[in-house]
Amino acid sequence: MLIANNQNIFRKASVSLFSYLPIALLLTFTSISLCFANTEKTESVAEQEIHVGVLAYRDRAQTIERWQHLTQYLTQQIADYRFTLVAGNYPELEKKIEQGEIDFLLTQPSHYVSLTYKENLTSPLASMVNKEVANGYAVFGGVIFTKSDRQDINQLTDIKGKMIVTPSKKSLGAYQMQAFELLNQEIFSHQKEMKVIETGLPQLNAIHAVLRNEADVGFVRSGVIEKLIERGELKANQLKILNPQSFADFNLIVSTQLYPEWPIASFAHVKQNLMKEVLQALLKIERDSELAIQLNISGFTIAEDYRNIDQLLRKLNLPPFHQSADFTLLDIWHRWQVHIVNMMVFIMVLTLIMLLYLFHKNKSLKEITLKLKDSHQQIKKLDLAIQQSPVRIFITNADNKIEYANEAVQKQSGYPFEEFLLKDPNIFSSGDMPKSMYENLWKTVLAGDVWVGDIINKSKQGEKQVLKTTITQIKDPTNSKIGYLCIQKDITEEKETEKKIHQLSYYDELTGLPNRNQLEIQINDIIADNIFEDLTEADSSNNTYLMLVNIDRFKMINDANGKLLGNDFLKQFSVSLRESVSPKSFVARLAADEFAIVCSSNDESSVDQLVTQQAENLLNCLKKPFCINDQQWNVSVSIGIAPIACSPDTTVNEVLRHADTALHYAKAEGGNQIQLFDRTIEQKVTGLFKTEQDLKIAIQDQQFELYYQPQVTVSGVLSGAEALIRWQHPQQGTISPDKFTPIAEQSDLIIDIGHWVLQEACQQLSQASNEGFEYDLSVNISPRQFMNPDFGENVMTLIEQYSIDPERLTLEITEGLFLNDIEKVLPVMQALADTGIKFSIDDFGTGFSSLGYLKNLPINELKIDRMFVKNVYKDNNDAMLVDTIISIAEHMRFSVVAEGVETSQQSRFFDRFPNIRLQGYKYGKPLCYGDFESHWHKK
Ligand code: C2E
Ligand code: CA
Ligand code: CA
Repeated sequence: MLIANNQNIFRKASVSLFSYLPIALLLTFTSISLCFANTEKTESVAEQEIHVGVLAYRDRAQTIERWQHLTQYLTQQIADYRFTLVAGNYPELEKKIEQGEIDFLLTQPSHYVSLTYKENLTSPLASMVNKEVANGYAVFGGVIFTKSDRQDINQLTDIKGKMIVTPSKKSLGAYQMQAFELLNQEIFSHQKEMKVIETGLPQLNAIHAVLRNEADVGFVRSGVIEKLIERGELKANQLKILNPQSFADFNLIVSTQLYPEWPIASFAHVKQNLMKEVLQALLKIERDSELAIQLNISGFTIAEDYRNIDQLLRKLNLPPFHQSADFTLLDIWHRWQVHIVNMMVFIMVLTLIMLLYLFHKNKSLKEITLKLKDSHQQIKKLDLAIQQSPVRIFITNADNKIEYANEAVQKQSGYPFEEFLLKDPNIFSSGDMPKSMYENLWKTVLAGDVWVGDIINKSKQGEKQVLKTTITQIKDPTNSKIGYLCIQKDITEEKETEKKIHQLSYYDELTGLPNRNQLEIQINDIIADNIFEDLTEADSSNNTYLMLVNIDRFKMINDANGKLLGNDFLKQFSVSLRESVSPKSFVARLAADEFAIVCSSNDESSVDQLVTQQAENLLNCLKKPFCINDQQWNVSVSIGIAPIACSPDTTVNEVLRHADTALHYAKAEGGNQIQLFDRTIEQKVTGLFKTEQDLKIAIQDQQFELYYQPQVTVSGVLSGAEALIRWQHPQQGTISPDKFTPIAEQSDLIIDIGHWVLQEACQQLSQASNEGFEYDLSVNISPRQFMNPDFGENVMTLIEQYSIDPERLTLEITEGLFLNDIEKVLPVMQALADTGIKFSIDDFGTGFSSLGYLKNLPINELKIDRMFVKNVYKDNNDAMLVDTIISIAEHMRFSVVAEGVETSQQSRFFDRFPNIRLQGYKYGKPLCYGDFESHWHKK
């Protein structure tokens, strides 16, 4: 079976095309055989049973009834064989065929063709000649018709979409032929498109359906219509034939090509001789013989060509072409069982191995994926970190063209990414960096080292940016250079702050001059330089000097005029100071009104002299009046100078202390002078400090006493007296005011002392008045004392307290007072003057103020300083000056007192001026009150 099937499989391909080729050969052979049919004597053998299978497509009994005549005929005709009829429907017949029980087969053409693909069936021996219509034909065709009055249906294309009726779709002549025709002519592309209804046999059902309008088009096999017309059941004009065909030897109505009638064929196992004899017998049947009538056929004819049946079956997908293959999987299984099992086992093992391998691969793939995901996330995080880093990061390629830059680069530089992509990083350059820096940078980086440094860049908006920069090469794992990494931190603000801190640390905010810190560094550097470089040159250590310059009575300017004006003054002063010294000199501001100058002298022989000369020049330069708020200001300065001596144990503090000591001394000496430091000064200043301390005690302990010096008219009559203070020091005895008032003037001590003097003077004046001793009393008032806000009120209080006639009191002030804000001085003076108190300008002519104030202030008297009086009788300049002073006084109606008249020569000079009063040793030295009174009180 397996082998038979196998053969079938191989035959399948060839049968369809070539199985009909042997027909011609067989025909030739048959015709030759026919010639000897009657003469050849059949060999007598035991009768053998031959089964002739006939398809019973309608009724089995009828079929047997009809076709038993044929088997009887064949049995009669052919000796030694007994032919038996096996009638059956398709499955019955096929079952018998399968069991090998059928030798000859008579069946309808499509059944035959389909069986040739399955069974060992020969080419047809003969084709049956149909007897349904008159002559009978071995071929037939299909008829396609419609009702003759259907105007809309005239040709095959009109069938599209119409309802078709057929007795049965299984019928070759009443459906399959027509369907094949319609598909062939491409009226339909597939059978399924046709709308078909089946009426069942007989075929006239289809004709009735069309006539009754139950369908538009009908299919019947050829001959049916003629038969109906012949029987009078149908009129020829009732129907319209579509696609009518005409064939030479075929006179029936037909719409399709013609197909052969039923074939009779034998199976392969049937002997050649028997086949021959059966064929001869069949062809011998006469058309109108009794047998033909019994069989209801017109006989048999030589086999027709069945290939068009084959084509039809293929086109309509009818068996055996309804499936893609005509063998089953089961067949394959039976044939190749062992191989299939082996193959399957092999495949299974292979699959198992593959699965295991894949499982393993999958596992490691999963691990790799996880790791990849992990590293992807890490990279993503890293990328985000770099992108969002506040530090600028960019990467260049090996040609130093920017390939990557983070957001900070774009944000801080102001350049959008596209503008610097693949550009040289010098796009950011400010041009401020020296070429040498870039040379050094590249040298370092190309050597494989990391370059770190500050670079000044410029943003797109033109802003300069200081960037702390790190540049390094990037290398791939094979150690070849692939680019450069640049990391930059914007330190512009830090630098600014640093600069500010430096400025604050080393510069004075108000004047912009270097401050004490920088001065100390400067001095330190000089000391260090001299020690290390010039140690051998002993004298060089004395070449450099520190000068401390202090403005005399600056505190008064400040207190009296307010800080803002004081600041303006200091700014102007610092400019003048800077201009007054050589550009090489170092000028600093140390405190409010204290400045320092570091200057040097190249001439070693008279260093001290030269430096003093410089200081004197400075002193003179600074004498020019300063103009602030439209007001002229004259100041004096005191200068202390100390050499920056450079012995290894010299310290900055020491130098500063020495210069400060010298300055202090200059101040204590009344200011407006220069003092060079030496050891005696140090002692003196130490003494000054001591004096200051002692003065405090003196105030507490009331160690002061007032002396009185007479002032007389030119005729020698007492007109008044000047109260002069004396300090009765417990150890040192009487100390002159010249020794301690300048020291007291430096601090508020002078206020307390001055107050004591005024009180004492008032008390004495009152006492004298009570005793009938009347005279005018002059009291010295220091500027600092006058500027004390309580001063005016204090004076009034004392006058009231001691019931003094204010007109008896004269306050001696100096021109120094007018260095203060005159707006503050004037009201106080005016208030006191209003009470009758007089004002005298002491030491007139020594000051440097203009005379303008004389007009505006309530002044009553000028005191000619004794330095002019001294040589007045012999020095023309002095004489002229004194003359001038006296004429000014006369003009202004001031009285005049000449001080320090010691000799007759001096006094004689004043004889020309009868209104002048004289004061001096010639008339009387200052005396304690008792002595003064006893001498001058003429009771
Ligand atoms: P002054 O106001 O010019 O006072 C005159 C000074 O000249 C006094 O010195 C006096 O003794 C001195 N003198 C007077 N006649 C002659 C003379 O013919 N020849 C010489 N060589 N000297 C003469 P004294 O008392 O030592 O005072 C010195 C200075 O001390 C004063 O100069 C004054 O500026 C200051 N002074 C004195 N007493 C006071 C005081 O109570 N308050 C303030 N603020 N200063 C005072
Ligand atoms: Ca005086
Ligand atoms: Ca005086």
